[in-house]
Amino acid sequence: MSRTDSALSHFECVFTGETYDTDFTGFPVEGQLLDPKYNYDELDITRETWERRHGSMWKYREVLPIYDTDHIVSLGEGETPLVSSDRLADEVGVGRMLLKDEGQNPTNTFKDRGASASLSGAVQQGIDEVALATAGNAGQAASAYAAHAGVDCHVFVNHQAGEIQKHMAEAHGAEMHFLDGKLPDAGSAFMADLEENDRYSVATFHTPFRHEGKKTMGLELFEQLDWTTPDHIVYPTGGGVGLVGIWKAYQELLELGWLDDESTPALHVAQSSGNAPLVRALESGSEAHTVWENPDSIARGVEVPDPGASPWLIDIVEESGGTGVQVTDETAIEGARTSARLSGVEMCIEAGVALAGAMELRKDGVFDADDEVVVLNTGAGCKSATHIGRL
Ligand SMILES: *Cc1c(COP(=O)(O)O)cnc(C)c1O
Repeated sequence: MSRTDSALSHFECVFTGETYDTDFTGFPVEGQLLDPKYNYDELDITRETWERRHGSMWKYREVLPIYDTDHIVSLGEGETPLVSSDRLADEVGVGRMLLKDEGQNPTNTFKDRGASASLSGAVQQGIDEVALATAGNAGQAASAYAAHAGVDCHVFVNHQAGEIQKHMAEAHGAEMHFLDGKLPDAGSAFMADLEENDRYSVATFHTPFRHEGKKTMGLELFEQLDWTTPDHIVYPTGGGVGLVGIWKAYQELLELGWLDDESTPALHVAQSSGNAPLVRALESGSEAHTVWENPDSIARGVEVPDPGASPWLIDIVEESGGTGVQVTDETAIEGARTSARLSGVEMCIEAGVALAGAMELRKDGVFDADDEVVVLNTGAGCKSATHIGRL
């Protein structure tokens, strides 16, 4: 074993402030959302060291919550391209348009970052069985990393989830639990199962590891822009795991003194108009969301009607100077097609929501003509090809 030099010190509940030791495995705690905390003073890290390392998101291991390299479960996730497209910038009407292409991860979405971190966390804690409810991509990612680690994985998913996601999760050897209805139905079955069987949950915000893995997207963005920040980041938001992760990266860069308060980017939430609980809350100035009745969108990855972390998400968006924007499924398809046609980057439908949202934000005057804008392409176009194609 060799040390990662992780500066992890403890876990802290975002809502109650209660703290837990790093070997605490009793997740999830009802009503709590645990966040890893680090001793930033002890960190001995330079930009040059991080720049020199390659291979996966674990290049940032000093600020990831795993102590021993032997516990890291990695398939080479992260280090995804940041593609600059002049043609797309002209179309949107901004100075620079950058696409963070998370489709180029091992199972073709950014869910791999969270799966790598949460399965590593499970291995670190000696856990041999994990479970989650998923719209599809998180289940595919978790089952791939569980397979690599030799950990059993239970996936609770609806029949209507994408074919690629269902088939690949099964092929990875996951125990599949198929449910009728929508994500909340898979969620209730999963929670009931969790009460009966003592499985370690790697569901959204049940572990402090998933958003921590997604934090590396923000660190990469900073490094890829030569240690500078964009003006705006548009994120297709479901449960908000990645939004928290990216925001946390910038908080840590402030802690490290590599960034000042004025230069943190505005974080914008993009959702589908068939399910937009966070956008509705942001527009009405509420502190938390109300559950979206009858969610109806083809963008399943962001079709989360009851995002439990909403008070935290709303705080983050407001503090960053960001907003919420919603677009129809048709506009999202147009967004993904526009990227394919003008930038060459293949987008999943969820990222189409974000790009179409960025176009709205430009029309609304939230973005200026010379702004630098990053859109997260959270997954590969092949995941949604039948929605996006016209043949
Ligand atoms: C899960 C998912 C999202 C939403 O992610 P959160 O971080 O939970 O908000 C967006 N896009 C795709 C492709 C996803 O799979």
